[in-house]
Amino acid sequence: MTAFGTVFTDEMTISWYDGTAWDAHKFVPSHSLNIHPAAHVLHYSSTCFEGLKAFRHPDGSIKLFRMDQNIERFAQSSSILHLPAIDITHTRQMIIDAVTKYADQVPEPPGSLYVRPTHMGTEPAVGKAAAPSNTSVQYILLSPVGDYFSGGGEVALRVLLDAEGMRCAPHMGMVKSGGNYASALDPIMRAKAELNAAQVLFCPDGDVQETGAANFILIDGNEVITKALDETFLHGVTRDSILTLAKDRGMNVQERNLSVDELLERAAKPGCEAALSGTAAVLTSVGTLIYKGQEYQVGSGRPGQVTQALRKALNDIQWGLADDKHNWLTNI
Ligand SMILES: *Cc1c(COP(=O)(O)O)cnc(C)c1O
Repeated sequence: MTAFGTVFTDEMTISWYDGTAWDAHKFVPSHSLNIHPAAHVLHYSSTCFEGLKAFRHPDGSIKLFRMDQNIERFAQSSSILHLPAIDITHTRQMIIDAVTKYADQVPEPPGSLYVRPTHMGTEPAVGKAAAPSNTSVQYILLSPVGDYFSGGGEVALRVLLDAEGMRCAPHMGMVKSGGNYASALDPIMRAKAELNAAQVLFCPDGDVQETGAANFILIDGNEVITKALDETFLHGVTRDSILTLAKDRGMNVQERNLSVDELLERAAKPGCEAALSGTAAVLTSVGTLIYKGQEYQVGSGRPGQVTQALRKALNDIQWGLADDKHNWLTNI
């Protein structure tokens, strides 16, 4: 199996903004992009992206999962970065055209076609450190993918709690932008090297936020606890979907602040579960929290039953095995 996101379809859709208007999108080879070495993005990180998936259903049809949520977030990221505004209808058509052309390359579940819309500032102007790019490009990369973690929901991750550091600047948290991942990389690499941790859960001032690329959800009996939306962290579509499915099951969903102290206290209980949510990883159990040199097992330390049930409920909708009662799927 090749690594997630390293294989691409031969072509992608692309559209350029020349300072006045978006041009009509077209198909071009996925293997190269011609931009000036002085392009704004290469110096000042004026870039954002999205990640969503297309699934193959048993009847052979292809469905995109919650595409409109991702496009709205793409528009919001572009706006906060002062990139040229995207046209939601246009971007939507770029995604549909790309996925339609490569529908035969959408793998069977648990695989899917990962869709990566990308937007970046292209103006060749190194003097614009404190000014936006007047020109930009957006494109829709497609990557057939398997299960993010081999073995699906079998793994329970080791996660370092960082009660001091931040993933990114607080006002950038809800922007899906390259610079934020650059900002989180060094703490993550140190946690991997020193503690064999898979991820860092950033908890600035003891407030449990999210990891480098996934939201955090605590499941304690019938209670589901996760941070309420604010501008400091990324508003995951998977997070929202899992909370909706938990409410459907009659669970007590609490969107509120969670402190490191409360997290560690609850995690010690036998039935407690914790999980990371995101499009790539879906819902992945956290088995161990590492904090100030000590290891805390979450519940049994193994993948939790509720976590796996919620993951399955989500996958069943995505894969066409359960009713799409929230209208999350778009037919291609
Ligand atoms: C993409 C991302 C998520 C998950 O968002 P989804 O819409 O569920 O894929 C969470 N946190 C960060 C930092 C992300 O980049």
